[in-house]
Amino acid sequence: MSSVVYKRVVLKISGEALAGNKGFGIDFDTVNRIADEIKEVKEMGVQIGLVVGGGNIWRGREGIGMDRTTADHMGMLATVINALALQDALEQRGVPTRVQTAIEMRAIAEPYIRRRAIRHLEKGRVVIFAAGTGNPFFSTDTAASLRAAEIDAEVILLAKKVDGVYDKDPNKYKDAVKFKELSYLDVLNKGLGVMDSTATSLCMDNKIPIIVFDLTTYGNIKKVVTGKDIGTIVKE
Ligand code: UDP
Repeated sequence: MSSVVYKRVVLKISGEALAGNKGFGIDFDTVNRIADEIKEVKEMGVQIGLVVGGGNIWRGREGIGMDRTTADHMGMLATVINALALQDALEQRGVPTRVQTAIEMRAIAEPYIRRRAIRHLEKGRVVIFAAGTGNPFFSTDTAASLRAAEIDAEVILLAKKVDGVYDKDPNKYKDAVKFKELSYLDVLNKGLGVMDSTATSLCMDNKIPIIVFDLTTYGNIKKVVTGKDIGTIVKE
């Protein structure tokens, strides 16, 4: 059996990834498949902090004509819905979890407390970080970078529907070329749609590598944590 190369990771799952082929809302077959995969990797001894997006339900920038802060609050609440779906699927598989929210809602989940989150990870619980950073005008990619820095994660696993970063959209252009490795500055200067610039800069300043990979193929999370050369790595 291959051994793990990362002991503590932040796995960022976009809301879109939870919608499966439906494009909107939660596709439970997809959520269950992701939960199976997370269970497998957790049982290999990897400490996993999950950051979930909300774009399958609501994105702040979709609220045209709305007050942006209110629209972003709706987006952060959407991430909590996704977090609870993932928590349920994981716990049904016997994986102990805690959801921690960046905006307090104590009847539903714990508030985000860094030291407590680390303790949960050490005890083998999957910690699901919900409600983004708790601030409007940010993204869940930035939340992933922030939490990774705070909990000393070795890497951010950025789960996407494509198998890495390309020079142009591989769904539109047949001659799109995939990068194996990129620097943070490449991502920023070339405007490659890996993460938004706030999230990328935070990773750059804190030297947190980002591995972009395809979550739609079963077994890929395991491949990434065992150091298999899939996807695109963004580092210094
Ligand atoms: N959001 C926010 N602050 C944060 C994280 C998220 O205001 O720190 C809001 C924002 O409106 C965003 C929505 O939550 O559009 C959903 O998050 P995101 O778009 O990052 O989800 P994803 O694209 O990963 O599904």
